[in-house]
Amino acid sequence: MLVGLKEILEMAEEGSYAVPAFNVYNMETVMGIMQAAQEKRAPVILQVYSRLFAQGEARFLAPVILEAAHSASVPVCFHIDHGAGKNEIMRAFRYGCSSVMIDASAQEYEENVALTGEIVQLAAANGLAVEGELGHVGSVNDASMDEFTVPEEARDFVEKTGVAALAVLVGTAHGRYKKPPKLDIQRIADIKAAARIPLVLHGGSGIPDEQIQAAIKAGIRKINFGTDVCYAFLDKVFAVPREIYAIDLFMKEPVAGVSAFAAGKIELLGAAGRA
Ligand SMILES: [Zn+2]
Repeated sequence: MLVGLKEILEMAEEGSYAVPAFNVYNMETVMGIMQAAQEKRAPVILQVYSRLFAQGEARFLAPVILEAAHSASVPVCFHIDHGAGKNEIMRAFRYGCSSVMIDASAQEYEENVALTGEIVQLAAANGLAVEGELGHVGSVNDASMDEFTVPEEARDFVEKTGVAALAVLVGTAHGRYKKPPKLDIQRIADIKAAARIPLVLHGGSGIPDEQIQAAIKAGIRKINFGTDVCYAFLDKVFAVPREIYAIDLFMKEPVAGVSAFAAGKIELLGAAGRA
């Protein structure tokens, strides 16, 4: 069933686990993840990059995700990832997202507060909750990173904006790590104690398992996997023999690859058997 961000993260908060948030790009990545979520009886978040809302692909992908959510027996949240601005968020509402992220983390603090607070109000009018970001989570290729998220500032940000979940900068980045990241677990616990809402870890692909588990213990309730969904899918695409050309048959292995990857992360995050 289709559920909102608040509901799905409240479940995780009660059970002290994290909900995996998988980026999806096409029908086949949706199919692979849903196969794993159903088999593992796990709540999942299917999220779509903001640029797909800007460029129009989300208009075609959204009905696929909504059908997957409505026909599933486990809770599924449809989320826009790193919503870039009001236009993308308005399209997310129109295309049926059950949850939105606004990412103004690259802007000055006051501007981040103002835009995020405005989106929280717009979303509330649509009955939806919002993920914000404080401390800009960059790419693995960035020369330098922002300062890590400060617990007191996180408390202030949550109070002023009313976000239901907060993405924080605690040592991760987007993309494929050149060497394993080192998360600031104590900082996660401190932010959690100050902000008192579910925290979100971006850049989940390639974080060592024991650090993922420590981060969940400290208060992370949503972990994003984008890059590894791509590799799970594409590694199989490149391995399928060229004689198989009927695209539905060609896609069997890539779908299975995504499913196997998602099943592993569902287990790691403690989300199996929760739905
Ligand atoms: Zn991210």
